This record gives sequence, C-alpha cells and structure tokens, in this order.
Amino acid sequence: MKAKPAADSTLLRLAALGCVTVAAPAACTNPEPVDLLLHSGTVLVLDEAGTTGTALAVRDGKVLAVGADDLRDRYAAEREVDLRGRTAMPGFNDAHIHIRGRARRHIPLGGLSSIEELQDLVAAKADELGPGEWITGYGWSEDEVREQRRPLRADLDAAAPENPVILTRAGGHSAVASSLALSLAGVDENTPQPDGGVIERGPDGELNGVIRERQDLVSRLVPAATPEELRESFVAALRDLLRLGITSIVHAGVAPSGFGEWESVYAEFGEELPRAAVQIRWAGTEAMEAFGRMSGEGDERLRVGPLKVFVDGGFTGPAAYTKEPYRGEETYRGSLVRPEQEFRAIVREAHAMGWQFAFHAIGDAAIELAVDAFAEVLAEEPRPDHRHALNHFTVPPSDETMDRMADLGILIIQQPNFTYTLEGRYREYLDGYRVERNNPVRSAMDRGVFMVLSSDILPIGPMVGLYAATTRRGMSGEVYGPDEAISMGEALVGYTRNGAFVTREEDIKGTLAPGMLADVVVLSADPRAVDPEAILGIEVDMTIVGGRVLWEKPS
Ligand SMILES: [Zn+2]
Repeated sequence: MKAKPAADSTLLRLAALGCVTVAAPAACTNPEPVDLLLHSGTVLVLDEAGTTGTALAVRDGKVLAVGADDLRDRYAAEREVDLRGRTAMPGFNDAHIHIRGRARRHIPLGGLSSIEELQDLVAAKADELGPGEWITGYGWSEDEVREQRRPLRADLDAAAPENPVILTRAGGHSAVASSLALSLAGVDENTPQPDGGVIERGPDGELNGVIRERQDLVSRLVPAATPEELRESFVAALRDLLRLGITSIVHAGVAPSGFGEWESVYAEFGEELPRAAVQIRWAGTEAMEAFGRMSGEGDERLRVGPLKVFVDGGFTGPAAYTKEPYRGEETYRGSLVRPEQEFRAIVREAHAMGWQFAFHAIGDAAIELAVDAFAEVLAEEPRPDHRHALNHFTVPPSDETMDRMADLGILIIQQPNFTYTLEGRYREYLDGYRVERNNPVRSAMDRGVFMVLSSDILPIGPMVGLYAATTRRGMSGEVYGPDEAISMGEALVGYTRNGAFVTREEDIKGTLAPGMLADVVVLSADPRAVDPEAILGIEVDMTIVGGRVLWEKPS
C-alpha cells in the first residue's frame, strides 16, 4: 500500500475515472451499490476476446463489470474481497460427473496412498457400525496405492474380521469381498464362474476375494440404506463440489424415476449448491414418454440434461468395444452393451422424440458405431443445433470419424484426467497409438470437433484434468502422446464455457462477461502462469454461485 494523503488519492481515483470535471461531480462521488467486489488480483473472463482485469463487480447474482481496481471507486460493495494477487475465473463446469447419496456403511476410497490406509478406514468403520454390519466402499485403485496391487480378501479380513466387507474398484467393474462376505453370499471354491463375470483365484488356487463384473453375487446381500441417510449424504456430496471450485455440473445419468429426488433436493437446497443438469438414462419408449420431460427443460439451478445411453463398457472392467483386440489378446475386443440393431433403434426413437444425446462410448468401435448411428438419424431427420455428444472418447477412432463429427456438430465430452488415473489400465489392455493417444483432445480439436472437459469422478476435481490435458502425464509421470496436449487457456475454456454450451446455457454462464451469472472460483494462482508441474498444487480459495460466496477456504 502506498501512503498518500487522502485528498490526493481521491483526486487520483477520480482522475482515473475521467471524473475531474465540474460538470458531473455527483455521478463520480456517489458510487453505485453492488453486492460483491473482488479486486487486486487477476480476473479471467474467458470470453472469445481473452479479456482480463484485476477487479470484478457483482450485482443481483450477475457480473456487472470487469476492469481495473478503480472499480472500487465506481462501486460501493456490500462485501469486498481483496484477491491479493490471486486469480478469479468462471467457476468450473464439470460436464460429466456422478453424484449420489451413500449409506452410512459406505467408505469413499478414491485417492488412497496405501492399502494400509484402506485397512485403517475399514477398521474405523467396523468400530463405528459394530460387528456383523456390512461395510461397503467405492473408488480404490491399485494404481494409486504405494503397494501397486489390489486390496485382497486377506487385507479386508485383517482389518474387519467380524464384518462382511465389499469394496468396489474405481470405475465400478470389479470389487473385492472379505471372507465373511463371501461365505454369507455362498461363494466358495466350488461356485461355478458366473455369466458375464469372473470370480478370481490367487496363485494358490484359493479365492482372492476379487469378483469382476458380477459383484452383485455378494452385494445383493447389503441392506438398503434409509432414504434419510441417502438424502443427507447426497446433499453433502453436492455441497462438497464447491470446495473444488465447481459451480455447475452435468450429472451423468439417473433413471427417469430418479429425477424427482434431484428436483426435491434443489427445491430445498438449490441456492446453496452448484447448478446442475441431470442426464436421463434411456429406459424404453414407454418409460421415456411417461417421464414427459425433455433435455433443456428446467431453470438456471436445475435442468434436464441430455439423454444417456451406454454404447459399450469401460477399461476398468474391461469392456470397452475396440476395433482391434486388446493388447496380447487373440480376439477379445470388449463388447457393445446391446446388439447394434437395438442400439440404432434407440437412437432413431430418441432423436425423433427430441432428446439431445450424450452417450457413453469408450472404445473406437463403439465411437464409430455411435457416430454412424447419429449420422444416419441426422440425415433422415435433420435437426439444426442438436448438440449431440459422445462422452469419454478414449480410444481414438479414425480421422474420418473425427471429420464426420466435426461436420455433423457432434461434441466430445472428454475426461483428460483419465490419462492420469487410468494409465495403468490403458497399458494393460491397449498398445501402440491406443495408449499413446488415449483420450485424445488436440487431434479432435484440430479437426474441428467441439471439445468439452470433465472429470467423471476419476478423480473428481478439475485440477487433475487441467494438469493431464496440458501435460499428458500419467500418475507415474510418464507422458502419453504429447501432441495431444492443449494449452492451459484451451483447457480452462473446456472446463467452463464449453460445458455451458452442452446444456445450451452459453448465453448465461461460462464466462465472466457483464450480464453473465456470477459463478466464480478464486484460485491461489493463475493456472496459465504457473509451471505445468505446479498445477496440482493450485488451491481453490473461494467458490461463488450466483454472486453468493458459498464456500471459502478456512483461513
Ligand atoms: Zn461416467
């Protein structure tokens, strides 16, 4: 702070405003009231023009002005926030995420550093619930833990010998169960291999506790959670997103019958949560007609998102549908979720009903089939500005397919963080350019495809996505296909403005241009200015939705 005589400083400020005239002194000396004013930092508008400022004024939930710190003279704010050099930008829009309520027995297992840590969490939960109670969990990954192996039956038995335990891997395609859980489920050495799944055995020939794809053999015994505990944890999970700087989400899928709970939660808590669009899963013609709602309906807080249909599975399974066999396999190429003709029929019907699509397609064969099916219905029944999209887009399809997507206006909702977290899976199941160019971003953008970025909770949190999109690094530090990297400026747009485009809200949010909703995140540093390796260390200091500070890092 420069020490200046008060009168002098006022004169300087007025001069800066062009107000040092006798003609209209009143307009200059009576600052307009605003609700919130951020100053003394970097404000990234993220508009086409690349506008930046050092201050931001907010009124009635919207951006009023972005400019220099002299906005402080023009406006009298109810609350002023000194950014102290930090960066304010549009809040993150995670365009593919899964948020749900969890039972009390559930343990979140993402981001663990060791199997020992997992065991501690299980033991603590057993203490909390008491003996005999089921313990569930989700999100472990052998790639994240120091031991670089999966948790096995014996690990769970040691942690909670008196509780049945089943813990699902990140991605949801396999789980590990404890001895007590297996025995309650009647699964033992004599159980035949189930349809569509595998009960694994260790090198000693005994069950190691891991079940692939058919964990329902055990999880069917887990008692249902009460509606109250589910709702409480659902709201808590939505609130937690604010700590990550997320101000908008596209939830990737509920059955038509599940939308009511979102409406009820948003009616009660909507003002305190990130804005949401909810994708609806295809449930057959009758159910979709009975649902009676359509993509885009709703308001700024909650709306119906695009339709979700699974084209194939994923690599945590693995079941992504690829053109060439998986690495080291003679014939295995994953599979479609349903026969091609059935898939094409759904596409035709849903398009005719008016749905916007955001389909799950991971393998190149699934992507090419989906694009072909979209092209077919768009030719039969053209719809300008349809904004149909493919989610994931992991194995690069042919250049011709990307060109077709660009021509037809089919968007990609990509998760660059998969390159980071799923690195181990890709190396196990894929090879050559399929590993190198996994989750392509640059090549698709260069061919004219509209690119939206998101997390799909692997892990949740845009910082990992920003890091991987710009460095193409896996968790091990290895760089995959550096040519697929994009600039930080592009990545930020992918995580903000482009997400708003998916839900047709690009005119009301996604940038900090005057008139836009004041959905803002304050970061400890400007992601464009730090060394790429320091991105993961950037912290979210404040999250603002509709001009209201909904989260602040405790000082
Ligand atoms: Zn997903």
